[in-house]
Amino acid sequence: LSRLRAGLAKSTKRVTESITSLFTKKKLDQETLNELEDALIQADLGVSVAARLIAKLGKERFGKEVTDEEVRAAFADDIAEILQPVAMPLAIDSARKPHVVLVVGVNGSGKTTTIAKMAHLFKGEGRKVMLAAGDTFRAAAVEQLKVWGDRAGVPVISKPTGADAAGLAYEALEKARAEGSDVLLIDTAGRLHNKTNLMEELAKIVRVIRKIDPSAPHSCLLVLDATTGQNAHAQVETFKTMSPIDALVVTKLDGSAKGGVLVALAEKFKLPVVAIGIGEGIDDLRPFEARAFARGLMG
Ligand code: GDP
Repeated sequence: LSRLRAGLAKSTKRVTESITSLFTKKKLDQETLNELEDALIQADLGVSVAARLIAKLGKERFGKEVTDEEVRAAFADDIAEILQPVAMPLAIDSARKPHVVLVVGVNGSGKTTTIAKMAHLFKGEGRKVMLAAGDTFRAAAVEQLKVWGDRAGVPVISKPTGADAAGLAYEALEKARAEGSDVLLIDTAGRLHNKTNLMEELAKIVRVIRKIDPSAPHSCLLVLDATTGQNAHAQVETFKTMSPIDALVVTKLDGSAKGGVLVALAEKFKLPVVAIGIGEGIDDLRPFEARAFARGLMG
């Protein structure tokens, strides 16, 4: 919890400073409500969440004396309520051998690092893990995954730069099956500037692995960088048209003042948030906990 608090420090500061500046102790009037609403929007919580929080606060406290602590506590409760339904761990189906996780997201969002962190986590749970370096376009991405794989003690299936990503995914799944792996994590390219190609590539990966296992991928995770703030919305929209996204991982919450965007995403898309990234290290992937996050955000 203290790591989460430390990680969220910038987001917390951004939200709470603006709230605190509006209060010492005073009667809650319309002007203050409007200012509070602006503060929530500025903190990336989004227009819809802000309106919802303000409506509730107004209904319960209008004309009454309130302190900033009371307001922050009320907001934290409401935010926790929004986050609760989406906060769930990534469920690995042990009956699958392997459970196939397809990991998508734009370049730089933290896909490779998140895969390494998950590999480390699953291995720690005693599962047999395999990685597929499906971002065959970028030599650096393949090399990076190999380094992470070595460090985590997990095999990495790769091919030379420019190889067909779907072919690689197919081979990796065959190998994972043959070796009795519990989890296969497939990295993918994130060339969003070349949307049509990327869409075709992701669709082909899905099509090809389904030849081996019609139920695969069993999870398709979209990795989002919290520092991109509102841009994350567009990324969800875009990737939803390209692959069967069923959960989110939000990274770089440690370096971001835009952690509030997670609340906006939860409210808008209602996709499970299975983990959050709070640092560059192998241990810096955390389960997403609604109440802890909401309290962290509101100081
Ligand atoms: P990819 O292009 O999507 O595979 O992104 P990478 O995994 O290569 O990550 C891009 C950069 O973000 C790297 O420098 C990572 O160390 C960094 N990164 C990833 N996740 C986190 C995180 O949770 N916190 C911080 N501070 N940095 C992160």
